[in-house]
Amino acid sequence: MKRSSLNKGRTEARELQTPTSGIFFKVRKVLYDRTSAFQRIEIIENGEYGRVLFLDGLVQTTEKDEFYYHEMLVHPAMASHPAPRKVLIIGGGDGGALREVLKHPVERAWMVEIDGRVIEACREHFDWLEPALSDGRAELFVGDGNVFIRETKEKFDVILVDSSDPVGPSTVLHEEGFYRKLRTRLRPGGIIAAQAGSLVLHQDQHAAKIRFLRRMFEHPRFYLGPVPTYPVGMWCYSFLSDAVDPTAKKVLRIPEGLMYYNPEVHRAAFALPNFLKSKLG
Ligand code: SAM
Repeated sequence: MKRSSLNKGRTEARELQTPTSGIFFKVRKVLYDRTSAFQRIEIIENGEYGRVLFLDGLVQTTEKDEFYYHEMLVHPAMASHPAPRKVLIIGGGDGGALREVLKHPVERAWMVEIDGRVIEACREHFDWLEPALSDGRAELFVGDGNVFIRETKEKFDVILVDSSDPVGPSTVLHEEGFYRKLRTRLRPGGIIAAQAGSLVLHQDQHAAKIRFLRRMFEHPRFYLGPVPTYPVGMWCYSFLSDAVDPTAKKVLRIPEGLMYYNPEVHRAAFALPNFLKSKLG
C-alpha cells in the first residue's frame, strides 16, 4: 500500500512503528513527494535529522544517522573478506551502501535497485549518491534484485542486501528462495550481509529466517548496531558465509575515515543479548 508519512497539513511526518507507537519529524519543507510504480517516495527537511527519505511512510535514510546503518551493513563483510573485488548491492537506492563499498579497493560494484524514481529522488537530494554513481567502478542496474540474481552470469565476493522491510517489492528479498539463489552467486570464500530488521519488534522474523539460513550456510550469524531513527533504534543484520567466521577474524581490512565501525565495534556487534540468543535457538 503506497502510504504517506505526511499529516494533512504536511507539517509533520511520522512512521508508525507499532500500532500504538512510532517516531515523528516536524517538517521544515517537503522536498520530494511522488508515487512510483512500486511505492510512495517522500523526502522532507527536518531540523534535527536533515533530509529524511520515506518509502510508503517508512523511514529509510536520514542525513544525520545514515552512517550508523550503512557502515554496519557494509564493513563487517567487506573488512572480513581477504580481497573483495566484485561486490553486489541489492536495493540500496539511496546510495549509502555503494558509497561505503567504494571506500574499499574493489574492481566493480553493482547496485541493483528496482525503483529508478528512488535513485532520481536521492540523486537530487542526497549529495553522496552522484559521486558514488559516477565512480568508474560502479555499475547501476534498475530492476528487481530477485530477477537479477537469476539471470546474471556474474559471481561476487560480497553480496549486500540493502532492502526495505518485508513489504511491497522487498518482500521477496527476505524469503528462503531468494537466499538459496543468492548463495549460488557467491565466489568461493564469499560473504552475504543483509539488513534483517528491528532487534525488538521483529524477533519472530529473525527466528524464522535463522531456521532456513542454518540449513544453507556454515556460518549464519546475526549482528547488531544502533540506528537512531529505525524502529526502536537497534537494528539486526545477518552475516552469511561458508568460509568466514566473523567472530574469529584476527585481521580486518578497514578503510580510513569511518565514523562508526572499527575492530572493537565489530567484535561487540556479534555479541548477542540472551533473549535474542534464545529466540534464535
Ligand atoms: N536501509 C533501509 C531499510 O533498512 O529500511 C533500506 C534502504 S534502501 C532505500 C531500500 C531499497 O530497496 C529501496 O530503494 C527499494 O526500492 C529497494 N527495493 C525494494 N525491493 C526491491 C527488489 N525486489 N529489488 C531491488 N531493489 C528493491
